[in-house]
Amino acid sequence: MSELKVFQQRIAAAQADRRLVTAVKSATLSKVVAREVALGELHDATALRQSAAAIKQHLLDHLPEYLEQFVTQVRARGGVVHFAPDAAAACRIIGDLAATRGAKLAVKAKSMTSEEVHLNAALTERGVEVVETDLGEFIVQIAHDRPSHIVTPIIHKDRRQVATTMAQVLGCPYTEDPGELTKIARAHLRDIFRRCDLGITGVNFAVAETGSICLLTNEGNGRMTTTRPRVHIALVGIEKLVPRLADLPVFLKLIARSTTGQAMGIYTTLISGPRQAGERDGPEELHVVLLDNGRSDIWAGAFREVLRCIRCGACLNACPVFRNVGGHAYHSVYPGPIGSLVTPLLSHLREGTGLPRASSLCGACQVACPVMIDIPKYLVQLRAAAPGVQPLAKRLGLRGWRAVVSQPALYRAAQWMLRRVVRGRWRDWLARGPLAAWGQRRELPTPAPRTFTEIWDAQLGGQRGGRP
Ligand code: SF4
Repeated sequence: MSELKVFQQRIAAAQADRRLVTAVKSATLSKVVAREVALGELHDATALRQSAAAIKQHLLDHLPEYLEQFVTQVRARGGVVHFAPDAAAACRIIGDLAATRGAKLAVKAKSMTSEEVHLNAALTERGVEVVETDLGEFIVQIAHDRPSHIVTPIIHKDRRQVATTMAQVLGCPYTEDPGELTKIARAHLRDIFRRCDLGITGVNFAVAETGSICLLTNEGNGRMTTTRPRVHIALVGIEKLVPRLADLPVFLKLIARSTTGQAMGIYTTLISGPRQAGERDGPEELHVVLLDNGRSDIWAGAFREVLRCIRCGACLNACPVFRNVGGHAYHSVYPGPIGSLVTPLLSHLREGTGLPRASSLCGACQVACPVMIDIPKYLVQLRAAAPGVQPLAKRLGLRGWRAVVSQPALYRAAQWMLRRVVRGRWRDWLARGPLAAWGQRRELPTPAPRTFTEIWDAQLGGQRGGRP
């Protein structure tokens, strides 16, 4: 079965699940409203977004220099830098670090980059138990599920499902009270934090100027993960850099507003190296694993701007397609509009080539994006780059259309014919036969009895000397 067919089946299945659609719609719409309100509180949100876009674009245009600076600064502060050209290398490096330190229990703060490289499975194979500490990710993990949103991993679940999972897996009393559920998860995770050997995080931003890494969380689990274990490993996509510490506030003002509508994330953690002499907390070792995994090829090509993404998730919330099918229908670590770009690009067009078609090109994603990525433009470009996913009939139809519209006489003849077919007794046959699937959710429009050009010719053409 073709990839497109499989994708269409997943979409149909998601749309048939009314509980899923209701949960995703309600959560995304409330985030869209919260984002609007939060950005409205800024003096000039557009100017701030322009600054963020310019900083990220400048960073990308000088990426090799900034990477070098970042590496030098991390080392100067006592951190160790590793380079991972691909997912397998990242898993191997982190697995080796765990093995050489005898680590058996790792805690992990939410990290889409670690999802991208399938780190949990790789570490489990090497005998390391990995426990997710972000509440949403924790629930995904104990439910043996997958995240369906890059920021809100359980957006597809309602309160009842979360309560049922926690009662079944943790053996706690059934409750749907979010406060109670959070307390239960906290008590469970505290014990794990006490016993863990290794802390693994992604990063939200990495500062080239100082070699610092910046983590944003709402639950404080990022701080526990980076301070309690002896060893902290940060997995960093090479595009996560910002040039200077002074650039951070621009992004900090935007990211939480774009994500959840908060003015700031609850915990902003800035880490510059491992624990130093005289410091009371922090890990003994800090390892930064710089991940490429297809990014440098994106960087070198026509889609560089896509790497500006700060993974805020606003484009997912704004997207009418995501809202109606949820994240699992994309069958990709990165769903939604940005996932429809990143998935095929990171895989050199080997995976997710049908995803750029999961868009009406309404532009809501671009309007929501804090770093102003022209997502619709790149979706269209990717559609052209992977034409093989277009059904043959559609490709032939488009070629026929091009031939007809490029010849006025043929075009007029086609218009005449179409009017007679669609307005005449063939209309019912068309609606029930060749256009049946298309017509499931649409009305077949009736063409006007005369075209605009015919009306123009009849009424004004003679007086004004020709057609428009
Ligand atoms: S593309 Fe823009 S809106 Fe979407 S996740 Fe990335 S930064 Fe956020």
